Amino acid sequence: MHELGITKNIVAIVSENAGGAPVRKVIVEIGKLSAIMPDAISFCFDVCCKGTLLEGATLEIIEIPGLGKCCQCGTKISLEQPFGICDNCGSAEITIIQGEELKIKSMEVDDLCA
Ligand SMILES: [Zn+2]
Repeated sequence: MHELGITKNIVAIVSENAGGAPVRKVIVEIGKLSAIMPDAISFCFDVCCKGTLLEGATLEIIEIPGLGKCCQCGTKISLEQPFGICDNCGSAEITIIQGEELKIKSMEVDDLCA
């Protein structure tokens, strides 16, 4: 289950950037073509957060839809898999322009100065 490793990475990166403050919320963007299951990430998140600055933090996942562009005619095509055929000219030469991302969009940290 590679989502566990991915979740550990997310927790490690957020911890590093939190500057020692407790983390309240993490927002992650996951592309639909990335083959990562958001449910599995959510499931692993609580486990991975135990004993870290992220313990008790909320995880919000934003799913980014897949989008490709035809190399022949430039038509944009929405994709459910990381490949496809152009609706306009039938070409299978598709460049993926969106949907493969996995990134930490933002995080909310408790303000220690308050
Ligand atoms: Zn085309």
